[in-house]
Amino acid sequence: MKVAIAGAGIAGGFLARLLEQKGISPDLYDGIDHGTACRCRSCGWGAPMSVKRYLSLVGLDLDDYLMNTMVYVNFDGIVAKTPLCTINKPRLLQDLTQGLNVLDHHRLPQDMDNYDVLVDATGIARALLPPCRSDLTLPTLQYRVNVEPRNGDRLEAGVYGEEIPGLGYVWVFPLAKDQFHIGVGGIGIERKEDILERFFSEMTGRFEFSPLCSCTGVVRVASPYYSIPFYTYRQRGGGSDQPVIGVGESIGTVSPFTGEGIVYSLECAQILADTWPDEKRYTSKVLSKFGWMKRERETIDYLLIDGGSTGPRLRDRWRFFRNAQRSDIGLPIIEAFKRMGSLSGWLRE
Ligand SMILES: Cc1cc2nc3c(=O)[nH]c(=O)nc-3n(C[C@H](O)[C@H](O)[C@H](O)COP(=O)(O)OP(=O)(O)OC[C@H]3O[C@@H](n4cnc5c(N)ncnc54)[C@H](O)[C@@H]3O)c2cc1C
Repeated sequence: MKVAIAGAGIAGGFLARLLEQKGISPDLYDGIDHGTACRCRSCGWGAPMSVKRYLSLVGLDLDDYLMNTMVYVNFDGIVAKTPLCTINKPRLLQDLTQGLNVLDHHRLPQDMDNYDVLVDATGIARALLPPCRSDLTLPTLQYRVNVEPRNGDRLEAGVYGEEIPGLGYVWVFPLAKDQFHIGVGGIGIERKEDILERFFSEMTGRFEFSPLCSCTGVVRVASPYYSIPFYTYRQRGGGSDQPVIGVGESIGTVSPFTGEGIVYSLECAQILADTWPDEKRYTSKVLSKFGWMKRERETIDYLLIDGGSTGPRLRDRWRFFRNAQRSDIGLPIIEAFKRMGSLSGWLRE
């Protein structure tokens, strides 16, 4: 079977490895210049340690990519235990695609008809599938900075939402020694630069920040349910039908509350490999596995449309708590409920 995967990101690279194990050698098409210093799409590189399980399925070891651990993370003043870490994503992408047939994406349009199946793993671009039935995206701005403590302090990993005028948060993720990703993402946030400037200036007495690079990005937080269709049939020049199947962020496997998509894109690729090549069974498995993303998306829609004055409902607060619980973040239920309450404050500003 001849398979082409458009997009050699986390989802496309991992799927290619899993298909190889089934005796299929896909061609990968990429080579997009993202204009970033790391040469990959803008991303915070934060992941739960459980990413190890996925990497080991394709013979990779998390220890080779681990940059830092985030055993404690400050969530707007509450420090909670987490299983999070940062990974060297560019190196991981390089190793995932090592030895595979990676071709320039410009060739794909001419070559398309030659394949039995096309896979859309192009993330936010969703280059081969028709539009999602109800898309929702979250713009971001991120700096990679060198951080020098002025008095021996260590900048802690953190996620700060209360200061943001809109639905979103600032993240502080430790990378290698003295380097951090500090970024902001949110829906309805106009001046992201000002938010980060304020963050830096509030900390300037304790730390000296030297930016190394910056990038802007967009994350699809629509959820898989609102990213349907996951597959379509394209007509070849000769008139025969060719299946096109989406995987990863192209079909919305990202947490709408947090924008995390690394581990869920790996999980989605594994479902596609396990059900290969049954697009209907794949769709129903993805919808069932990521049903919670649909509910998170519905909370966001509610807050954007109705929630400004009334604030989050009990079910929204519960979903927020479940999100933390799902990621093994030790945020006590009462704190999760309170923190979600502050969302209405963000919306009113
Ligand atoms: C600023 C920012 C920070 C983030 N931080 C985190 C985080 O800390 N943790 C986390 O879990 N998630 C994070 N995410 C989300 C996460 O990066 C994505 O959800 C995840 O990378 C999706 O993987 P993917 O393989 O589906 O898509 P991508 O990683 O986007 O890969 C898609 C690939 O397709 C290629 N491509 C695009 N168009 C075409 C085309 N026409 N033809 C061929 N190839 C094409 C691209 O070059 C790219 O290599 C962040 C996102 C952003 C924007």
